[in-house]
Amino acid sequence: MNATTVSSSLASHLICSTCNTVSPIHEVQTYAHCCAKPLTVIYDFTKELSKASLLSQPNTMWRYAAVLPVLDPRNIVSFGEGMTPILPLNNLAATHNFKSLSIKDEGLNPTGSFKSRGLSMAISKAKELGIEHCVIPTAGNAGGAMSAYCAAAGIKATVVMPSHTPQSFKQECELYGAELHLVDGLINKCGVMAAEIQEKEGAFNISTLKEPYRLEGKKTMGYEIAEHLNWELPDVILYPTGGGTGLIGIWKAFHEMISLGWLKANVKLPRMIVVQADNCSPVVDFLNGEEKALVDYGESIANGLAVPVAFGRDMIAKVVRESGGTTVTVTDKEMIDGVKEVAKSEGLLMAPESAALWKGLLKLVDRGEVSRGEKILMINTGNGYKYLEHLV
Ligand SMILES: *Cc1c(COP(=O)(O)O)cnc(C)c1O
Repeated sequence: MNATTVSSSLASHLICSTCNTVSPIHEVQTYAHCCAKPLTVIYDFTKELSKASLLSQPNTMWRYAAVLPVLDPRNIVSFGEGMTPILPLNNLAATHNFKSLSIKDEGLNPTGSFKSRGLSMAISKAKELGIEHCVIPTAGNAGGAMSAYCAAAGIKATVVMPSHTPQSFKQECELYGAELHLVDGLINKCGVMAAEIQEKEGAFNISTLKEPYRLEGKKTMGYEIAEHLNWELPDVILYPTGGGTGLIGIWKAFHEMISLGWLKANVKLPRMIVVQADNCSPVVDFLNGEEKALVDYGESIANGLAVPVAFGRDMIAKVVRESGGTTVTVTDKEMIDGVKEVAKSEGLLMAPESAALWKGLLKLVDRGEVSRGEKILMINTGNGYKYLEHLV
C-alpha cells in the first residue's frame, strides 16, 4: 500500500491468539509461529464509529469495511456477498412447538455458500499484498469460492479437494479457471498436498485459520445478525462446525460490537452450539474429554463437516465454554432426512451441514439443553443444490 492512501479501516495489527505477540498488518501474514496458533486482527476502537454510519454503506458484508482489514478499498473483490436474510421457519416452528425459530440463509451467497465471505476477504487482502498465486485445501465450498474470487482478481488458483466430493464442487473450480488436484482422503490430507504446492511453487496458502483474513470475512455474519435483529441477539445460535471459522468469527464480532458501543457491555450473548457429524466429531469429542485418533474420523455427506483436525480447535472450544454453549452430533442419515423435511415444510433446500442443525436442535431440546421458548437462530451455511447427487 502506498503511504498516502487514505484508509477508513480501523485495523491496526495482528496478535497471536494464544500469547498476544504482535505482527504487523502491512506485511504478508500466515499464522502465529510463536505458538503455532491462528493470528487475530485487532482494530483501534478508540476511534469513533457510529451505528448510523452504516446507513450510507453498501448492502453487502463490505458495509462493515471499517472493521475489516482491507486498507485500500480499491483492492476489494466483491460479488455482493453478505446481508443474507434471516428467515422465520414458521411451519417447522408450528409443528414442533417452537416460539422463535429462524435461519440465516447463507446459501444465497455467491458460489452458494458462506465461504464467499471468507474468500472475498482473503483474496482482497491477497490482492492488496501483491500475492499472485493462491492454494487452498478444501472439503468443497471454499475451493469454489476461492476459484471465483481469484478469477476476478487475476490471481492464479490451485485447489486441492477430496476425490469423493460431489461433481459440482469440482466442476465449478475448473470453470473458474483453477487448477484442481484430487486426493484420496479428507481435507487434512489435502492440506499436506497444499503445503507441498506452497513450498514448491511459492503459492500463498489460504488454509483455514493458517491465513488470518478468512475469519474477518466470516465474522461479518455476527455484525449482520445484530443489525438485522435490531441489536437484540438470539438466545442460542447453532453452527455446523468444520474448521470453526464462522463460529469464532461471530463471537469475535459480538465482542467488537461491545467495544464499539453498538452492543451494551452487559448484553446477554447467545449460547454458541457446535454441531458436527457423528462420523467426524473432533471438536465435540475434545470438549467432552473423549479425544479419538485421526483414523477414527471419516467422511460425511456434509463434506464441510468432514474436518478431522481443526487448526483453531482451542479457539472453538473457548467460544463454546465462554458462551455457556454445548455440542451435539448428527448422523448422515439424519441429515438427509433433515434436508427433505425442511425442504418440504419450508421450501428451503439446505446443505446437509445445516440440516444437521435442525436434527441436532431436536436432540438438544430432548436433552433439556435448549428450550422451545427460546429465540433460536440456525445458520444455513450452504445451498443444497450442489449436493443433489448425494441427496436423491
Ligand atoms: C465450510 C463449511 C462449513 C464449516 O464451516 P467452518 O466455519 O469451517 O466451521 C459448514 N457448512 C458448509 C456448507 C461449509 O461449506
